[in-house]
This record gives sequence, C-alpha cells and structure tokens, in this order.
Amino acid sequence: MRITLSETFVSIQGEGLDVGQPAFFIRTGRCSVGCKFCDTRYAWNSKKTAQVTEIVKEALKSKLPEVIITGGEPLEEENLPLLIRLLSKEERIKRITIETCGHIFRDDLPGEKLKIVLSPKPPTMGVTFPEESLKKFLKTYERAYIKFGVFSQKDFETIKTFAFKNSELIKEPIVIQPLETPFEDYIETCRRVTHMVVEDREFVNAFSVRIIPQVHKLIGLK
Ligand code: SF4
Repeated sequence: MRITLSETFVSIQGEGLDVGQPAFFIRTGRCSVGCKFCDTRYAWNSKKTAQVTEIVKEALKSKLPEVIITGGEPLEEENLPLLIRLLSKEERIKRITIETCGHIFRDDLPGEKLKIVLSPKPPTMGVTFPEESLKKFLKTYERAYIKFGVFSQKDFETIKTFAFKNSELIKEPIVIQPLETPFEDYIETCRRVTHMVVEDREFVNAFSVRIIPQVHKLIGLK
C-alpha cells in the first residue's frame, strides 16, 4: 500500500497549539485545492510514492515522539488511515497530528493518538470556505481544533461568522494565524492581524482565542 509523498523531514511544529514541539514530518504529495498563495506548491502533484510501511520505519528512525502528517492535502490520500493505524501501533510514537484544509470530510481516521488540525483557507487564498465539511469534522472527532489564516478583515469575518454560528461545536481554542502573502512583510502582517483580533472584544470574550504566527518561517526553518 502506497501514498503519494512529497518529502519527510525533522523540524519543529511551527504552527498552532503545539508550536515548538520537535516532530517528524510526513508531507504528502497531492492537493487539488489550488490556493492563490500556497507555500507548498511543490506538494500539489508529486510523482513520488512510498510504501506506507517504509514511511513508518523512517518515522521510527527519527526517534521522535510526535509525527505530523501535512501536505499537500493528506486527506486526498486513500491509504492515509492505514498509515495512521501503523504509526499508532508503535510504542515510541506518542502523538500523530494531521493537518488538513478540511475540504474533504472523512470519518475513517483512526486512533487515540490522533489530533486533527482543521486549517480551512481564508478568502484571501481565493478558495471556498468548507463550512459543511468543517462542521462534520468537529462533530465526529473529539480532538480537533481550528487554525485559520487571516490577512484581511474579510478573512477575520469569515472565521468569526463560522464560530458564532457553530459555537456549540467549538471545544478547543481557535488559532488565528497571520497569513503570509506577497503584499506585505510578514512581521507587519503579524502585528496588524494581532491588533485586529485583540480589538474585537466580542470575539475574544466569546471564544478561547490564540494568535500564533508561523514560527518556523520567522526563524527560517521548514
Ligand atoms: S490546501 Fe494547502 S497545500 Fe493545498 S493549495 Fe491550499 S495551502 Fe496549498
């Protein structure tokens, strides 16, 4: 059984609630979403595939307790459940995180070690917000949280509208991640977005909110 693979590497979790966690990364090699400012275009259509069992061996060789499966879009890989199942069986591996934009809903992702980071793309990325599929993920998986890239006020309004409409489904903190674009220096975007969110007292009082930049980019890591 194989999956499309872009690359594997060791780094730190640069985003979201587990930022700073050393991890072994598996970057799958396929994505059909087509976001305007995608920073991993090289993982849209990889020609490389790998045996799931070989990837598990590599993860074990890294001797790290955390495995992060990212993309591309991992949920476009048919054999993803098998990969998660085999990784979960390994004593050494304590946590497995899937990063997905959430445009395809799947209810076949197994295991107690699994956490799902739902990272739907904002209007600035030029794609449709996957509202229905996100709701299904939040209803189906206990350990799932939303991480949302924000560049513009419109992006912020999109996640706010979703959160207020579906507040009963949101049990974990909402991560607002300043979005890197070609229009502005990233540090400036981080400052501006932080201000935008903090000033919205209705939002920050209604939800547990974390504003977290992409730390790996700030320190020049993958
Ligand atoms: S979903 Fe992720 S990998 Fe796919 S195009 Fe958008 S940013 Fe790129």
